[in-house]
Order: sequence, then structure tokens, then C-alpha cells
Amino acid sequence: MLPVIALVGRPNVGKSTLFNRLTRSRDAIVADYEGLTRDRKYGEGRQGDSAYIVIDTGGISGDEEGIDAKMASQSLAAIDEADAVFFIVDARAGLTSADEMIADHLRRQGKAAWLVMNKVDTVDPDSAASEFYSLGLGDPHPIAAAHGRGVRALIEEALHEFPDSRVSEEEVDTDKGIKMAVVGRPNVGKSTLVNRMLGEDRVVVYDQAGTTRDSVYIPYERFEQRYTLIDTAGVRRRGKVSEGVEKFSVIKTLQAMEDANVVILVLDAREGIVDQDLHLLGFVLDSGRALVIALNKWDGMTQDERQQVKTELERRLSFINFARIHFISAKHGTGVGHLYESVEEAYEAATSRWSTNQLTRILEDAVGSHQPPLVRGHRIKLRYCHLGGTNPPTLVIHGNQTGDVPISYKRYLENTFRRVLNIMGTPVRIEFKTSD
Ligand code: GDP
Ligand code: GDP
Repeated sequence: MLPVIALVGRPNVGKSTLFNRLTRSRDAIVADYEGLTRDRKYGEGRQGDSAYIVIDTGGISGDEEGIDAKMASQSLAAIDEADAVFFIVDARAGLTSADEMIADHLRRQGKAAWLVMNKVDTVDPDSAASEFYSLGLGDPHPIAAAHGRGVRALIEEALHEFPDSRVSEEEVDTDKGIKMAVVGRPNVGKSTLVNRMLGEDRVVVYDQAGTTRDSVYIPYERFEQRYTLIDTAGVRRRGKVSEGVEKFSVIKTLQAMEDANVVILVLDAREGIVDQDLHLLGFVLDSGRALVIALNKWDGMTQDERQQVKTELERRLSFINFARIHFISAKHGTGVGHLYESVEEAYEAATSRWSTNQLTRILEDAVGSHQPPLVRGHRIKLRYCHLGGTNPPTLVIHGNQTGDVPISYKRYLENTFRRVLNIMGTPVRIEFKTSD
């Protein structure tokens, strides 16, 4: 499980700035689902081979009324969801009563908390630090989020407390078969699809996941292939008529993606592609997991409506060149069998082990028919290629001046590997190493 870090503090202390430093993806998921205000942002970050989730909140100002009260309750909810808290104070502004109130809350909660003193570029850190000791949260960690100063040391120290955060991309757990995460915004039909995939006859005896952070893991077999379905919606009891509104949990979704081999992203054909879908898609791409897209509720639509959806797909998803798209009806079961075919194809491609020989031959052919460019009078040399990891497949290419390989040439190599090795359903990562 990825550790979850919440950023709390007064407005304007630099939480958003730190959030952007800590997360790789510009497009954080903003939780604006029913029951949640727009003030909680989620992002995923990586440091070395550790990964973590960050939550940014609106802030707590101390005299909460109206919109401020909402912001404060978001912060409290974020603290609740998190494993650790970065409590950010402003070195320039100094200690305030709101800081004291927040510190008080954190001490009573007993959550692991790091006192982070931001904006140390503007003052002398040592003298600024002295007044923050009284908060009783130990040494302030000096940072300047705007310049990145101290941020790496801070996250490294925090992650040290969570040895489980290490993500091993190499490891494919074959015991559980193909691990599939069914993800999507509320109401797109995840539960219906999960029930459909598990089959009519299977009685699901539990209600839903215990906590907001845990998905349900369901191992099963289908035509002698083992699967584990990671259900982020929480399967509803069979025969239960009421459609309870599931609380959508971003953390649950991100954890499930991280843990899966293949992500099935469910979209609602009747609503088209909305921004939240694209945010989720951004996270799948960041995770490097294999991907199959299921456009659900395809039943009962007119030809015109279907054509409209297809046109929209081409327009808004043109940046994904590797995922198969299925038009399905979870309700009637149409197209669900074919979904499995694409899941297997994607898994196969994501976990294949190609030999250095085979990869190097493809590299040589690619270079032979289209040379890398000259850089400052020297030609970039690419010598050999080996598999550096799976799920996603990572192809490590050794040569010299590899730092100068243009993005267009990298894309050409990726496309060549994809075509020759018949890689479908998974992203491919290409890394260069300079060997002399
Ligand atoms: P938030 O309300 O806590 O999310 O704060 P923001 O991240 O929006 O930052 C508030 C203001 O402080 C912005 O004008 C930032 O540019 C500024 N700021 C953030 N980090 C630093 C820093 O390390 N040094 C300085 N000098 N300013 C900073
Ligand atoms: P979840 O919140 O993503 O788990 O969505 P649900 O599985 O609870 O489905 C939300 C609503 O969409 C329910 O009313 C379902 O009956 C309906 N639904 C799900 N799949 C389909 C489908 O393929 N076609 C149609 N017409 N409705 C569907």
C-alpha cells in the first residue's frame, strides 16, 4: 500500500507549491464528487523507487466560518485519510494562533506529523525556527517549496518511516493470476461490470470493503486462467435492489491501480468523456499499468448517438495509442467476453520477457533504416538494448551521447519496438544509458 501524506496548514503558507513539487503529474485529481467539496486535491509522487500519495487541502485559518469552515473540514478529513501529515508553517510570517490550533489537533490525533517550515529563502532559518519549537512537534524542517530547497530531504525522511512504499516494478506475482482493477467515476457502471465479470452464478457474500481506503480483492478462475479482480466500487449484495451511492475514494482508486497488472477504465457512453475521466486516465498513464478502456452503457443508444461518442473518443483520447477500446453493456453482458481478450493481450505484452539478443537486433534494424541525428558533428551511437523491467516493459538502450537523443527519435524507437514485438495494451518506457 502506498503511504498517504496530507499537507495541512493555514492558507498561503505554500501547500499548493509544495504539492506541485511533490507530485509528478500536473493534473491532480480534484475530488469534486458529491459529498466532497472541490478543495481536496490528490496526486502521486515518486522518490527513487518509492511511491506515495499526497493530499492537498484548502487550509485552516483558525476563524472558520462559511467557506473557511468547509476548507477546515476538508483538512480534517484529509488528516483522517492520511498516514502522515506535513504541517506547513510560514517562516516569514512567524508563528500564529492558527498554527497553535492546528498543532494542538495533530498532537491529540497522534498522527505522525512533520513540522515543515516553508519560505526559508526569505529569512534566516535558524532564528525563524526558534519560535516554532513551542508547537511541541519537534524540529522544524526548513524548506523553500518555491525553489525546491529541502524538499527532497523531507520526503526521504518521511518515506523512511514507510518501508513498504517501495514499488518493485520487476515483481509480477503470478499466484494471483492477472490482477485487474476496475476503476472509473461514480455511476459509470463499475459494480454492474464487476458482477457481470464474475458471472451470474456466483453469489457474492459480502457487502463492500471495510474502509474507504481498501478495495475488495476477488480471486477466481475463468477458462483455467486465474484472475484477481480489484473492485474499487465494492460489490453490492446480489438481489439488493437499492443502489446505494458509493462514496468515491480517490485513494482507493490510486492504490488499486498501483496494485493491478491491468486497469479497466470504465467510461459512460451516455455522458461522454468528462474531465474526471481524463484525470483518472492521467493517473493510469503515470502508474505505467496496462490499460483497457470499457465504454459502458452502449445499449439502447441510437446510431447517431453512437457515432457522436466515437467521434468524441477520437478527439479526446487521441494521445493514447496503445489501449483497446470496447463498447460494452455491463447491464446486458454484451462485449464483456471480448474485454477479457484484451485484458489477456495487455497482460501478456506487459509481462513479456524479451532477450537482450532479440531487443538488440530490433534496435540495430531500427538504427539501420533510420540513423539517429548528428549532434555537434558526432553521430549518436546506440549499441544494445536490454529489458530493465516489466509492467510496464522498460527497454534500456545503451550507447553514447544518449542524452542528446531527440524526443522524435525516441518515439520512432518506441513505435518500432511496439510494431515488431506486437506490443498492445501497455505503455512502453524507453530509458537511455551512456556506457562510456
Ligand atoms: P497555500 O495557500 O498554502 O496552498 O499556498 P501557495 O502554495 O498558494 O503559496 C502562497 C504564496 O506563497 C504564493 O505566492 C507562493 O508563491 C508563495 N510561496 C510558496 N512557497 C514559497 C517559498 O518557498 N518561498 C517564498 N518566498 N514564497 C513561497
Ligand atoms: P458504479 O457507481 O460505477 O459502481 O455504477 P453502478 O454499477 O452502480 O451503475 C450505475 C447505474 O448505471 C445503475 O443504475 C446501473 O443499473 C446503470 N448501468 C450500469 N451498467 C449499465 C449498462 O450497461 N447499461 C445501462 N443502460 N445502464 C447501466
